[in-house]
Amino acid sequence: MAQTGDAEIPKTCKAGVVVNEGPDFKLAVEDVPVPEPGPNDVLIKLNATGICYSDIHYMLNDLPIPKMSVFGVRSPGHEGAGVVVKVGSNVTNWKVGDRAGIKPAYDACFDCELCWSGKETYCPQSPQIGLQFPGSYQQYVLSPARYTQRIPEGVDDFVAGPIMCSGSTIYSSIKESGLKPGDWAVFPGAGGGVGHMGVQLARAMGMRVVGVDGGDDKKELCMKLGCEAFVDFTKVTDVAAEVVKICDGKGAHGIFITATSASAYKTAPMMARIGGKVMCIGLPPPGDGFGEANPLLFIGKNLHMIGTKVGSLLDTQKALEFAARGLLKPIYEVFPLAKMPDAVAKLQAGKVAGRLVVDFNS
Ligand SMILES: [Zn+2]
Ligand SMILES: [Zn+2]
Repeated sequence: MAQTGDAEIPKTCKAGVVVNEGPDFKLAVEDVPVPEPGPNDVLIKLNATGICYSDIHYMLNDLPIPKMSVFGVRSPGHEGAGVVVKVGSNVTNWKVGDRAGIKPAYDACFDCELCWSGKETYCPQSPQIGLQFPGSYQQYVLSPARYTQRIPEGVDDFVAGPIMCSGSTIYSSIKESGLKPGDWAVFPGAGGGVGHMGVQLARAMGMRVVGVDGGDDKKELCMKLGCEAFVDFTKVTDVAAEVVKICDGKGAHGIFITATSASAYKTAPMMARIGGKVMCIGLPPPGDGFGEANPLLFIGKNLHMIGTKVGSLLDTQKALEFAARGLLKPIYEVFPLAKMPDAVAKLQAGKVAGRLVVDFNS
């Protein structure tokens, strides 16, 4: 028997849905059926969802992957936080009332080398929520009980939401970089949704942080969050040279490319010191790459190029613990549910410092 809470579960709920998927897509808020949990699922009532640029990629359908409609999905979203309102008949480790989060990976097989080594987000059987399954733009969503994220005390839903994707993604990259306390960490895109959390985490881990982004608002944000220096690409002609100068004249130990622009990828290798790590995180437009980066540079500087996807269950837990300790505070602007389309448009226009979060209860 499925266990249900006292609060009555409605038959329908509000959801942000994509209309006219593709280059001219629009987001609309509609009523959709509340799904019924399968035996191994929990049903989560979300209080908040972050808006991530990946959602926009999925709605634009500009990535070389199948579109949402192929899977019968209309709601993107993978940064949800809320509470369990119903559990499937086989579920024993969750109960109604537990706080729970939605992150990009929906599930994994837990029967392969990648899953066993904490790299389950790379498992070939790890589908994406908000692409292959209805995502967190829908207030009532399903999640496999074994892969649902617990939200610790002291982290509210507006903070937890953005950590599910951006916070956990950048935690994972910093961890894989192997950078040590005292090393220089540079964040192209430091004022953005992923970057501004990277700045805080790297600072909390004892690294020396340089932000690269454009404009005084982003500079102010970055310096407040713990950057030691900021390079404004709208003012400085040779950004890479400026970064090298700041980092002892030798370059950075790690460059965390959280920006999604082709130019960020082009200049990053030039910012590295010998043996530096070039960490690829932000998704650039299709077809862009390290275009002009000469292999001689990689050889001569012993560069390491490492790509990381979204964080694992453990990475997300760790990122949430930094938040619970007050060391990671996502900067966000809240939009009421009815204004979800405006939030999406604002992010698409690139006008966001920090993160946008939608409040399902207002
Ligand atoms: Zn995301
Ligand atoms: Zn697996």
